[in-house]
Amino acid sequence: MPTRALSTAGEDAVLDALARQGEPAWRARQIQAAIWQPFVGDFDELLQLPATLRRALAAEFAFSTVSIATELLADGGETIKLLCRLGDGQTIETVAMETPARADSRRRSTVCVSSQVGCAVGCPFCATGHMGLRRNCTAAEIVDQVRAACRALHSRGMGPATHIVYMGMGEPLANVPATLESLRSLTEDAGISARRITVSTSGVVPGIEQLAASGMPVTLAVSLHAATDELRNRLVPINRTYPLGKVLDTACRYAEQSGRRISFEWCLIGGVNDSIEQAEGLRDLARRAQAHINVIPMNRIDGSPWGPPEPEVARRFLGALRGARVTVRDTRGGDADAACGQLRADLEARRILRPDGTLSPPRVPARA
Ligand code: SAH
Ligand code: SF4
Repeated sequence: MPTRALSTAGEDAVLDALARQGEPAWRARQIQAAIWQPFVGDFDELLQLPATLRRALAAEFAFSTVSIATELLADGGETIKLLCRLGDGQTIETVAMETPARADSRRRSTVCVSSQVGCAVGCPFCATGHMGLRRNCTAAEIVDQVRAACRALHSRGMGPATHIVYMGMGEPLANVPATLESLRSLTEDAGISARRITVSTSGVVPGIEQLAASGMPVTLAVSLHAATDELRNRLVPINRTYPLGKVLDTACRYAEQSGRRISFEWCLIGGVNDSIEQAEGLRDLARRAQAHINVIPMNRIDGSPWGPPEPEVARRFLGALRGARVTVRDTRGGDADAACGQLRADLEARRILRPDGTLSPPRVPARA
């Protein structure tokens, strides 16, 4: 199995391979274009290349570093949830969500990528947090999730991807080198505007600073979930290292430097962070940071007694946010184990996902 990932190999590596095969340099452009064609799944489908070159490239480069182990549909087919298998058998989740055009908005396809296998932060309401950290994803594994999602969308008459969110498994700013390299590839190679990419963080202050220093004006989402240090220490344990005040100062500086409005994520948990005091604290913090608020009713996970609040309590909480810019996020993929890490955790619990990353039996036929 070649280990060099085509997505992040770079032009020089491809030119070098071409030269060794006695092929003209202009073929590099053909290959570069093919990487992002949603109907091409492997080198042997690049029929514009001579067969000997296809074989030589396949021996040297991995066309993709992820393969699709399971594909589930939700929301009437507009959400595709992928369980992606990596080269070492680990599995991560990727979600593609299509939103058809409406009278007041254009069509969009959002791909949600994982940045780590598991996560060390350990938020108690999060299925990925319960796994602990297994390893970081490489930049190619992040980029290749987007390519796999684009192929899955295309095969169902949807896509191409217009928006990317780093809201799958893992903490992207605890894996800064791969996050930055993948952002560079998605913006420069795939041509997706940085403004349409959101990096979500639990508040890794040095990571936010490095993202700002990269100069790529992506949107920053801060997973706040609590308006006081006392509660946030419990809900987002990394708050003990980077407390609320420091995270907010750094996020505000990010907004100034990037010119992008930041957003606050709030996973609303019944009886935990749904009080009027917390809502008023959130409203004040959002006003100070000029942030947009995304409220996400908690998805129940195995291993946590918590869940979303009663509708009446949720309404009161939202009422107390009046005056702020608030979106209540629909939990897309609800009928396919929506929130980050949940599909994987669910398959594992039902012993469908084996420790080596293989499935028994797959719920839908595996797709390459
Ligand atoms: N680690 C990063 C990005 C991945 S998590 C972060 O925490 O921001 C992406 C989002 O999913 C976060 O806002 C997280 O709080 C939210 N999330 C995790 N588990 C959830 C659950 N059970 N219900 C609702 N949202 C959840
Ligand atoms: Fe990690 Fe984000 Fe889950 Fe917290 S919510 S455990 S930071 S993936």
